Amino acid sequence: MGKLDFVEELLQDLKAQNLYNTIRTIGSPMDAWIIVDGKRVLNMCANNYLGFANHPKLKEAAKKAIDEYGVGPTAVRSIAGTMDLHLELEEKLAKFKKAEAVVSFQSGFVSNQAVIPTITGPEDVIFSDELNHASIIDGCRLSKAKVVRYAHNDPADLEARLKEHAGARRKLIITDGVFSMDGDIAPMDEIVKVAEKYDALTMVDDAHGEGVLGEGGRGIVDHFGLHGRVDIEIGTLSKAFGVVGGYAAGNAKIIEYLRQRARPFLFSSAVTPPDVAACIAAVDILQESDELVKKLWSNADYFKSKMKELGFNTGQTQTPITPIIIGDAAKAVAFSKALFDNGIFAMSITYPTVPRGTERIRVMNSAIQSKEDLDFAIGVFEKVGKELGVI
Ligand SMILES: *Cc1c(COP(=O)(O)O)cnc(C)c1O
Repeated sequence: MGKLDFVEELLQDLKAQNLYNTIRTIGSPMDAWIIVDGKRVLNMCANNYLGFANHPKLKEAAKKAIDEYGVGPTAVRSIAGTMDLHLELEEKLAKFKKAEAVVSFQSGFVSNQAVIPTITGPEDVIFSDELNHASIIDGCRLSKAKVVRYAHNDPADLEARLKEHAGARRKLIITDGVFSMDGDIAPMDEIVKVAEKYDALTMVDDAHGEGVLGEGGRGIVDHFGLHGRVDIEIGTLSKAFGVVGGYAAGNAKIIEYLRQRARPFLFSSAVTPPDVAACIAAVDILQESDELVKKLWSNADYFKSKMKELGFNTGQTQTPITPIIIGDAAKAVAFSKALFDNGIFAMSITYPTVPRGTERIRVMNSAIQSKEDLDFAIGVFEKVGKELGVI
């Protein structure tokens, strides 16, 4: 036995369990239609909600930033890597979100690693929705705080857990804003009420709510009118914003402390100038107009209503994430393959990402899909759904 044999065994094990990921290759910009493994298909699985990933204004801003600032900051922000661009992005985001302050990080994933262990430690208790994103789970682990999971989107269960741990030094409640597999929205209004009753801090990861929920895409805090009552909002710049990066918005003192102590801020280099400039352009567009956000919602509403009419089970979605529940792993995989053969790129999602029996195709709508695109998609779903006996 060689010391590396275990890796081969682990890989074989994944394959045996049908958990081995085959990753498709994109050979074009992220647009409504893209080239996947050499084939032109309608893209129904990207988080490109507003079409910013290939937006002319973002591309122009990125190119201009390369000419003015070069391609890299070559330092962590606290030493020599903060450019005026980073500060401009943070100011503009704070204004857009109507938050006291914003600090940006390298990604949404990193933002959770940055925030959670910096504001909680072993004496504290974190109350975490049982379906929270992996980056929240890892951030909680890094904090060494006690983690108490509460039932999904259930403020009454949350309250019961808070009662049990009323004596903790600090209490922090964390939830995804929009849950990415089902498209349901956390009841932040009720969560905040419970939090205030027990003097707990509140944090929401709004990766799928940025650019989607609230007035003009200002996110979940705006959606519920909770400005100033949610302590920290995590955002990503890689989904609706179409680029890469993440941030924390909220209470100015917390943000100030994160700039002093958050480890990804202190020990990992800043996002590159073209990325930051493209993000600034995205915020500028959203600040000026809610046209793209409105188009996103009208596309999603149209698609969902047609899918329901056809008899598909679209679960509990309240957002432009539409799960098409198939309920069987092999059938979900076959469904995705048949969609692809018919010109649609939409991935199947199976256990362990979603519970067994709820295997699905997850459709993401976007403002850049045209009515013809959606009608084409609906026609293909109907054909494949009938062929596979799903409808
Ligand atoms: C996608 C996602 C992230 C990760 O964001 P990146 O910017 O891609 O690192 C974090 N949290 C949630 C809830 C997400 O959906």
